[in-house]
Amino acid sequence: MAIPNQKLGLVMSPQEFMVALCMWLGIPVFASPPSSVRCPCGTVIDPHGDHVLGCGHGSLRNKRHDTLCDVIFNTVLVDNRDCKKEQRCNSHNNARPGDVFHPDFLQGRAAYFDVTVRNSLQASYLLESATQPGAAAAGGDSEKIAQYEDEVNAAGCDFYSLVVEALGVWFPSSLEILKIIARRAVLTTGTTVSRAIQHLLQQLSFSLWRYNAKLILDRLAICNVDNVM
Ligand SMILES: [Zn+2]
Repeated sequence: MAIPNQKLGLVMSPQEFMVALCMWLGIPVFASPPSSVRCPCGTVIDPHGDHVLGCGHGSLRNKRHDTLCDVIFNTVLVDNRDCKKEQRCNSHNNARPGDVFHPDFLQGRAAYFDVTVRNSLQASYLLESATQPGAAAAGGDSEKIAQYEDEVNAAGCDFYSLVVEALGVWFPSSLEILKIIARRAVLTTGTTVSRAIQHLLQQLSFSLWRYNAKLILDRLAICNVDNVM
């Protein structure tokens, strides 16, 4: 049975859709000369809005991350009602390697999932990303594993880095973990594996692009700039 788009969270406002479409097609979203438009962080905003996707000004970038965490959390919750968000691995520090925590994931071991969004259009990644697709995600994956894996393993648990680039490319190992998460939910929902994977990836992709559009629209409003619409 088809699930309504509203229930899957697959609804954009017309403005969000237009901005997302411009970005997808590579059409400039700014009508004003780029040199006259500065982000509140001081950086000149390029006509395609590439800077904005990774800029930390304001709260929307964090909300984009949190929304992806929510999609994953809601999926693991179907598999196990004891899953939690924002979990520490030990009481000795405040680090929270678990954006999402599953108490019984693979082979009965507890799992900590960390979600990261990397902007492959950021200046520091641009050269590498242009020649090696997925380079920004690979860098994010290595960083998170170095940061958290030993600590989580020492606690007898498993750490899974879930890294996606701002334009939607998941790091290969992250994608495999997402597929396992979707497959486990099938045991409860009774839907097909292919449909469960499709729904999870669709919700994640849609949420990412919706918040990319929100980030652009937010800067347009702050900078008092007209866009191409
Ligand atoms: Zn900025």
